Amino acid sequence: MKKMSIDDKLGLDLFHTDEEESHIQVDLGCTDEAEIKKLLLACPAECYKYIGGKLSFSHLGCLECGTCRVLSHGRIVKEWRHPQSGVGVTFRQG
Ligand code: SF4
Repeated sequence: MKKMSIDDKLGLDLFHTDEEESHIQVDLGCTDEAEIKKLLLACPAECYKYIGGKLSFSHLGCLECGTCRVLSHGRIVKEWRHPQSGVGVTFRQG
């Protein structure tokens, strides 16, 4: 059996995303580049972008790993909770 890459495995996940409401609230006005860089490097779904000195965030594709919440210590990630029942990611390969 051929070993699957991480990208291949993630590509099998199902997303039922709440497009109206994000389960993560982010301070998009943050200018602390050291803190921003942590999230850019750590988020496996690349939900955080930093382009032209402006932070942006999209919860679409979030894997609900909680890494950003732990790293941020409330500095950029202001609120983190699991999505409502019935929405979010469904893992199909570990
Ligand atoms: S919970 Fe994980 S996947 Fe979702 S935004 Fe945070 S670091 Fe990215």
